[in-house]
Amino acid sequence: MRQHITWFILALTGCASTPQPGQPWVVTQIETPVTGPRVLGIYAHPDDETSAAAILYKTRAHLGGVCDLLLITNGEGGFKYSTLAEDLYDAELTDETVGRSRLPEIRRDEFLEGCALMQIRAAYFLEQTDHRYSTDPEEVLAADAGVWDLGRIEHALVERMTKGRYDFVLTFAPTPQTHGHHQAATILALRAAAQLPADRRPAVLCARQETAEEVPDPPAILSGYPETALAADASPLIFDRTQPFGHRGRLDYRVLVNWVIAAHKSQGTMQLAMSRGLRTHLFLFALSPPGSAEAAQAWLEGLAQPQFTPRQYGSSAGTNASNSTPIQ
Ligand SMILES: [Zn+2]
Repeated sequence: MRQHITWFILALTGCASTPQPGQPWVVTQIETPVTGPRVLGIYAHPDDETSAAAILYKTRAHLGGVCDLLLITNGEGGFKYSTLAEDLYDAELTDETVGRSRLPEIRRDEFLEGCALMQIRAAYFLEQTDHRYSTDPEEVLAADAGVWDLGRIEHALVERMTKGRYDFVLTFAPTPQTHGHHQAATILALRAAAQLPADRRPAVLCARQETAEEVPDPPAILSGYPETALAADASPLIFDRTQPFGHRGRLDYRVLVNWVIAAHKSQGTMQLAMSRGLRTHLFLFALSPPGSAEAAQAWLEGLAQPQFTPRQYGSSAGTNASNSTPIQ
């Protein structure tokens, strides 16, 4: 199937042109019929999408689906962790004034590079202020917060979900321990989805990562935000990043996730997350329309299929050419 897909890595090749205000950045030209799920990721910051990087990539590359991403903020609040990127961008990014001035454009371009690696179709930027780290979502959601343009966000989310006819919306799990912006982005996505009639509403899911140290629990309903209730059967759908492929099964989807993480060079701590997530647990929210659990199950079963056919090699490929050669 892959040979029938024509796509261009516009961001990587520097060919992506700045869109008109309010228009998306088109990253990947989709010129074949969409045969798989339509997915929208909604996140607060550039780099949050790494939580679903392999899922988004394989949905496009293996299932023939189409994936878009919508970011609420510019991510300029990440200046504290930009130390190693200061030489790269020739700017004192860890100085708050410099970082807040320069990082919106830097982080947008890093994000677009990752989008190209995941074969994302289009990226939507709402360009809201990444004002500061806090675990309190009310810092941006309160009616008098004045940090984000909540009316504009609501309109943009409802419009995107309506026009995009998505099967699934992916978000961060809104736990009290995570950044308040992460909680707020998911709450706003849920509130927007609730405005669509059930027969046109996407299923909304959130992601948590399983690591070598920890298997995540389903996120509990967030106090004060009833829309964050999970569906009655809260057992997760699991995408295994470690499913092996390639010669002798030596590759897995952590490689793709690491590529996307590596694009975010201005975010030092993000780089240390490489290869940590082993399996992504997806949890379905209760406001998802009827049939969502079955549809999501079928999607994840498709994502568990082998994507690549192993090649056969002769001795010219080396002493490890055989797929059956014991690993040394
Ligand atoms: Zn974030």
